[in-house]
Amino acid sequence: MPKATFRGTRIAHIGIAVDALDRVLPFYRDLLALPEEPLDDADGARIAGFRAGDALVELLEAPPERPDSPIAKFIAKRGPGIHHICFAVDDLNATLERCRREGIKLIDDVPRIGAEGKRIAFLHPSSTAGVLIELTEH
Ligand code: ZN
Repeated sequence: MPKATFRGTRIAHIGIAVDALDRVLPFYRDLLALPEEPLDDADGARIAGFRAGDALVELLEAPPERPDSPIAKFIAKRGPGIHHICFAVDDLNATLERCRREGIKLIDDVPRIGAEGKRIAFLHPSSTAGVLIELTEH
C-alpha cells in the first residue's frame, strides 16, 4: 500500500552520465559546493549523489568492467551528458497507469527498487520528447 503523501510532482534527481567520476566530481562538490549524499550503485553504474535543494544530482559512471550497462551504452552512443530526469509523484501506481492508458511507452511495466531504495519505473524517451523519464515516490 503506497503511503498517502500529497506533495505534488517534483524533480527528485537528475542523472548525468559521466565517463570518469573522479574527474567530474570536484566540479559539483568543490566549485558548485553541493553536499555529497552517499548512494548505492545501481544498474551497473557507480553513483555519486549531491544535494541541490529538494533534488539530487546523480553522477552515473559505468565502470570499465561493465561495458554492457545502460550507462556505458548511453555514453558509447551519445557521449556524456544528462541521462534522465526523475520525478517524484504522489502515487506511482496511478501515474504509471495514466501513462499506460495514454499510450506512453513504459520501460518498466511494474515498479522496481532503484538506487535510493525507493520504487521506481522508467518511461521510454520515444514517448516523452526524447527525455528518459524516471518516476518515483516521495
Ligand atoms: Zn535515477
